[in-house]
Amino acid sequence: MKYTSKYWLFLLIGLGLMLFCMFYDRDGKLSKGRFIALFTVGTACMLYTAVLGLESFTKPSDSITPVMASIMNAMLVSVYVFLFVIGAAIVTYVLFKYLKNKNIVVLEHVAIIAFTLVCLAFGIFVSYSDFWGGKEIICFLTMVLYVGCLLIYRPYVTILILGACFMGFYKILLTYQGGLTFQKQDIVISGVVQKIISGDSVNYITFFISLSTICFAIYHGRLNEARKSKALEKSAKEDQLTGLYNYSYFSELAEERIRNLTGDFAENVLLFLDVHNFKAFNDQRGFEEGDRFLITFGKYLSDAFRGSLFARQADDHFVVMTKTDGLTDRLNALNDLVHDYDDEILLGINCGVYHLNSNREDPRMSIDRARYAAHMIKNRFQTVCIEYDKTMSEAYHKRLYIINNIDNAVKYGWIVPFYQPVVWSDTEEVCGCEVLARWMDPVYGQLLPNEFIPVLEEYRLIHKLDKAIFEAACRDLREAIDAGRPVVPISLNFSRLDFELMDAVTELDDLAAKYGIDKELIHVEVTESALTDNFTLLNNAMNRIKELGYSLWLDDFGSGYSSLNVLKDYQFDVIKIDMRFLSNLESSEKARTLIDCIINMANRINMLTLTEGVETKVQAEFLNKSGCTRLQGYLFGRPIPKEALYDRISKGELTVSDRRL
Ligand code: C2E
Ligand code: CA
Ligand code: CA
Repeated sequence: MKYTSKYWLFLLIGLGLMLFCMFYDRDGKLSKGRFIALFTVGTACMLYTAVLGLESFTKPSDSITPVMASIMNAMLVSVYVFLFVIGAAIVTYVLFKYLKNKNIVVLEHVAIIAFTLVCLAFGIFVSYSDFWGGKEIICFLTMVLYVGCLLIYRPYVTILILGACFMGFYKILLTYQGGLTFQKQDIVISGVVQKIISGDSVNYITFFISLSTICFAIYHGRLNEARKSKALEKSAKEDQLTGLYNYSYFSELAEERIRNLTGDFAENVLLFLDVHNFKAFNDQRGFEEGDRFLITFGKYLSDAFRGSLFARQADDHFVVMTKTDGLTDRLNALNDLVHDYDDEILLGINCGVYHLNSNREDPRMSIDRARYAAHMIKNRFQTVCIEYDKTMSEAYHKRLYIINNIDNAVKYGWIVPFYQPVVWSDTEEVCGCEVLARWMDPVYGQLLPNEFIPVLEEYRLIHKLDKAIFEAACRDLREAIDAGRPVVPISLNFSRLDFELMDAVTELDDLAAKYGIDKELIHVEVTESALTDNFTLLNNAMNRIKELGYSLWLDDFGSGYSSLNVLKDYQFDVIKIDMRFLSNLESSEKARTLIDCIINMANRINMLTLTEGVETKVQAEFLNKSGCTRLQGYLFGRPIPKEALYDRISKGELTVSDRRL
């Protein structure tokens, strides 16, 4: 024991380090394995210094004077104290952290590096003592390996520390070769033969353990890497929520399958499935329930289309490539399952079906066509599936055209603002104009907003159009001001997505500044459906619009679900009452009362009203009497280009009011 104690100590440490390397994890958390490893190291240091360390004190002898012996012992004691303190610190620290289960990154590194230095010092010390014996150099190498184990996860630190040590050691060796006498060899040489023998075998064992540790640690690291890349590969193919394939992997596989098709291509179909009413389900039941539904839907889909290719595209959209046999039955069964999922919220599926024509078709395009077909039955709960056909093809191509040409439309000025007058209800003089976009297309002629706005919104491109239309309107206004024409405020339509896709408020403010337009001349229209989701973003935008001094108008009031809440949450200057309220105004007492109440209510919460879609004199008179201040509709004018508007004004058909409210 006397001669091998140091080796046993390091053997223990080696074992501890092996565990440490095996269980090392990069996020710096104290795992169980690391806890055991560090604990072993700390305890070994303490035990050794406390129990065995005392044995190694040097006694004075013939070759060692008492003074030398006490100097050596003093040095030894300080090494032991140092080791003990480090051991105790590690143990306390590890225990403390383990109890608190916290991160131990910084201090742990300090402890490891300190311990590294001790290991190396010990290795140097032993080899240095036995320089002439030539055996104990293995101890130094062993220590170096320990350090390697310890620092294997931080290669740069390892190289630095080891490099410095090798340099130092090499320098010492050179000094010896220079012929200096070495006193310490006497201790070693006068030692017992047994020491060398047992020392050797321990050396070999520890050497072997250290080597194995390093191999193990490297293997462990590699294994982790392999696992990670496997997980990565999986996530590249799978949809995280449902575990089905994701869309890009689906497209890859579908492409391959399509290329290999033979026979009747039209027997093969691509489906696009959309869950009917899922938004309402999500709103009412919350996202977690929504996710749970999607997972279940994934299972239904796997059961219904076993053997086919299917995937989740995004949100509540799923895609399938399958055969036509029994397709309708399968879809109906799937629809029934979805239908029974919730007792209160009516869920269902809308499925678009696209039949392949050849084996050169692009799966993404085919899915897009199926999606277009599904879109046609979006609000028809009774219809489960619809096939993409020739009549759809034309509309589909128009849609594609719009998506592909929005940049050209902006660039070449095909997007043109039309102006529809808004009048005071008492004098019927023009008090403003709503800016309504028209797409003057070289191929299709004039396109109306209902043809391009929903498509651009669906493909999240609407901000491009709006930015262009805002700029064109501001430019027109500037021209009118410069030409000395009478001007009225313009109202601009903001899409909900504008606030997500661009910094819409800043864009507007910059345009107003660029063309030197007074803020009172710009009204911002937002629809109530815009205000139902992403509250924080929209709330901030609404507040900024008001703060900057623009007038904020609520568009299409009464056409959505949450109108009254919206009135509570935001301060609008004007509410635009949806034209649907006017449809049976003349014949229905109830309709009249309703409009009357809305106008009253708005006035009581300090908001003015504008009624849209006024087409008859009777409607206009009724609204004026009810206290609605502004009117807009075909009775006063349709949306027209600016030149036509100027024309009507100069002919006296429209009178411009100079009253502002
Ligand atoms: P909106 O904002 O509610 O605009 C009023 C729509 O009602 C316009 O349709 C207008 O032509 C129509 N209208 C006006 N008076 C009458 C009337 O007396 N009777 C009837 N039946 N209709 C009338 P338009 O121009 O087709 O625009 C449709 C929608 O497209 C707009 O509804 C608006 O939501 C959107 N939109 C139009 N231009 C833009 C735009 O530049 N940006 C954005 N984001 N949306 C726009
Ligand atoms: Ca509007
Ligand atoms: Ca409207």
